[in-house]
Amino acid sequence: MFLKGKTALVTGSTSGIGAAYARALAGAGAAVMINGFGEADAIEQQCAALAQASGAPALHDPADMTRPEMIEAMVARCHGELGGPDIVINNAGIQHVAPVADFPTDKWDAIIAINLTSAFHVMRASVPLMRAAGWGRIISTASAHSLVASPNKSGYVAAKHGLVGLTKTVALETATDGITVNCISPGYVWTSLVENQIPDTMKARGLTRDQVINDVLLSAQPTKKFVTPDQVAAFALFLCREEAASITGANLSMDGGWTTA
Ligand code: NAD
Repeated sequence: MFLKGKTALVTGSTSGIGAAYARALAGAGAAVMINGFGEADAIEQQCAALAQASGAPALHDPADMTRPEMIEAMVARCHGELGGPDIVINNAGIQHVAPVADFPTDKWDAIIAINLTSAFHVMRASVPLMRAAGWGRIISTASAHSLVASPNKSGYVAAKHGLVGLTKTVALETATDGITVNCISPGYVWTSLVENQIPDTMKARGLTRDQVINDVLLSAQPTKKFVTPDQVAAFALFLCREEAASITGANLSMDGGWTTA
């Protein structure tokens, strides 16, 4: 329970990797504000489970990560109702798979807004609060696609590369403030984000579902295994420890060896 008394805000945490971050942080005693879309009943149950695990309150904020004013209001609400935020995890993300000439401009705009610009707005609102507290942890879920490209993912690859640049810059600006700022860059993690891109990848590359899983997704990972959401969350939890106070401005790979090849 090393995070007792601390508050964590996790964007895009109603499913997948974000939900695993929220579970891990609550398991360590943090009050958690989750965010993202989903059924009201499921979100209520998720908050109840988090509060039970942490012994602290857990709230959901419905801010749409394409809307700067909602993001600012979410951080202010977290500060007002839960305290902090001491830890923020920029995790909300979407994907769209298409060659650049056919890439819908609205999908490009949404990917840049949700996967990159929302992290700027969260950091912009949170850094002054962390500075005042003299402690903070900012973690963003980037991706192996922050280091290398794949065809048909121009929006996603551009956003994730940008997220690393934002992280490095804010790490330097906060280096003497007790705040660390890092990215975790997973390879393929089996979540709805990956499952949903299979049909478009089948179409774009003329492949079957099994071929996409084995010859496109897992072929990138020398371990031939998907990363799990709980592995990513355990790594984030380590970054919240005092032992991790010197890790800042880093883009930390967790990709089964993908980007070493
Ligand atoms: P997911 O689809 O399971 O979760 C995405 C979350 O973001 C959900 O809670 C969803 O409601 C939320 N979200 C989407 N649009 C939003 C918006 N406009 N406003 C607020 N919330 C919004 O996907 P995931 O795989 O868990 O992805 C989480 C993060 O991990 C993303 O940033 C993704 O790019 C990154 N990532 C995923 C993988 C992978 O293989 N799954 C690999 C590397 C990085």
